[in-house]
Amino acid sequence: MNGLMMNVPLSVTSIMEHAERVNGTTEIVSYTRDNPRHRYNYRDAFRRTRQLANSIADWGLAQGDRIATLAWNDYRHFETYYAAACSGYVCHTINPRLFPEQVTYIINHAEDQYVFFDLDFLPLVEGVAAACPGVKGWIVLTTEEHMPETSLANVLCYETLLAAGDTSFEWPQLDENAACALCYTSGTTGNPKGVLYSHRSTMLHAYATMMPDAMGLSSRDVVLPIVPMFHVNAWGTPYSCPMAGAKLVFPGSKMGDGATLAALINEEGVTMSAGVPTVWLGLLAYLKTSGQRVESLQRIIVGGAACPLSIMEDFDKYGVETRVGWGMTEMSPLGSVNSSPSNRDKYSDEEFAKLRLKAGRPIFGVEMKIVSDSGEEQPWDGVAFGSLKVRGPWICSSYFKLDGSDAHAEEGWFETGDVATIDPDGFMAITDRTKDVIKSGGEWISSIEVENVATDHPKVAEAAVIGHFHPKWSERPLLIVVRNTDGQDLTAEEMLAWFDGKIAKWWTPEAVEFVDELPHTATGKLQKVTLREMFKDYSFPG
Ligand code: ADP
Repeated sequence: MNGLMMNVPLSVTSIMEHAERVNGTTEIVSYTRDNPRHRYNYRDAFRRTRQLANSIADWGLAQGDRIATLAWNDYRHFETYYAAACSGYVCHTINPRLFPEQVTYIINHAEDQYVFFDLDFLPLVEGVAAACPGVKGWIVLTTEEHMPETSLANVLCYETLLAAGDTSFEWPQLDENAACALCYTSGTTGNPKGVLYSHRSTMLHAYATMMPDAMGLSSRDVVLPIVPMFHVNAWGTPYSCPMAGAKLVFPGSKMGDGATLAALINEEGVTMSAGVPTVWLGLLAYLKTSGQRVESLQRIIVGGAACPLSIMEDFDKYGVETRVGWGMTEMSPLGSVNSSPSNRDKYSDEEFAKLRLKAGRPIFGVEMKIVSDSGEEQPWDGVAFGSLKVRGPWICSSYFKLDGSDAHAEEGWFETGDVATIDPDGFMAITDRTKDVIKSGGEWISSIEVENVATDHPKVAEAAVIGHFHPKWSERPLLIVVRNTDGQDLTAEEMLAWFDGKIAKWWTPEAVEFVDELPHTATGKLQKVTLREMFKDYSFPG
């Protein structure tokens, strides 16, 4: 017998309609190139979204057609998200930090029909346009007075386009399984792969991220998404904030600028923010030199890569709670959050220092398991390692226009490519990428744990560990270090001595090499493939 409840589709349109009616006067503040502090509210935003939807309705697009963006976090990008998705099209966010060849590949693979872009990306767009014959128009996200001189054909001004549209618009009724957004993985190996989100998955993910032990969002929050809207939809904040009625503060192109971030936090009363470890290093460095504080800021979500303990301890001094989040583009992205700081009293100092580094507990809706090389499920004892698999309603079931993938080899599960342990309380810890695992004498060494210890050294800016050929052990860890400005005298002996008593003796790196910088991908992740290539002719001393 079925329940007798209404079957209302879960759609992004309903988020917009709710926010407009219920949270209409809540503000959205943006840093943009043509206005460093643009300010309006959800009601204004969604009125303009209807105007935009009206204007683009004449373009003759079919349901499911892709509209792309190459844009920073700001209100125009936000409007484009909703106008595209709620009209029944797909908002394809492109990472402008990718190489031009990858941007070209992605635009053509996604069959993007129109591309909305920020002025900053004009050179990139001019460079790729000739190789993207399917694109019918390029829309500059600016006003008529800021329109650039350009060699591009079919260029439109966003504000002119929008102004031509009527403010009333009848949104189409959409199936909850219809696609609403598309994001390509950064593709450290091979071509980027498209992850196609649905209205339903986006809405359920937004609901889940709002939970108290996840991002804990409410109408009392002021949220600064530093994670880009071109990278997994800024971890869902453009959907969860209007849903919760939280004020949004968009940093535009200034996500790497500590001074602007501090000003936005202090002047707009930001309570919650989200970003990758690198942006926090920038903010902390600025706070240290300027002597400023961030009194309103209550908590931050740090994800995308392992978060060094030093970042958390520095934020402790400012009274800011650090929560590690783990996820992937394929997971919308949130899979787990470490909310141990909210139960700080339960742990000793030592336990807490260890626990808070973990990737956290799965949020409700995400199921996890760890399996051995032979496919055997591993216990949740905090010790056994395994390849991490996940499933849930906001996890991708296959890639866009790609039949089958190794990641989906086991029916109903997605293989993350991460290796993890899970403890009896459900705290998951990422120990490695499957491709980066180091096996010394047949035993696994967690490169992430070794890197965490190395980056805690006061003279280290960044560190990476790779497995390297060793005649006796087949592989041993080689530590590659970037010294920080205070640490130019750091020696290999001093570095290796640092590991004493902090990790198992045999996990201690075999040798240390110093470099000026480490290779990173467009999304700021360490590129270990390149690193291994750089050190392929290296031999361990002795
Ligand atoms: P995102 O960068 O938003 O997390 P990607 O799909 O680009 O999304 O990258 C996902 C990968 O990033 C994960 O599979 C994992 O290897 C790594 N990662 C993400 N969060 C963490 C974390 N908290 N700790 C360690 N690695 C992480």
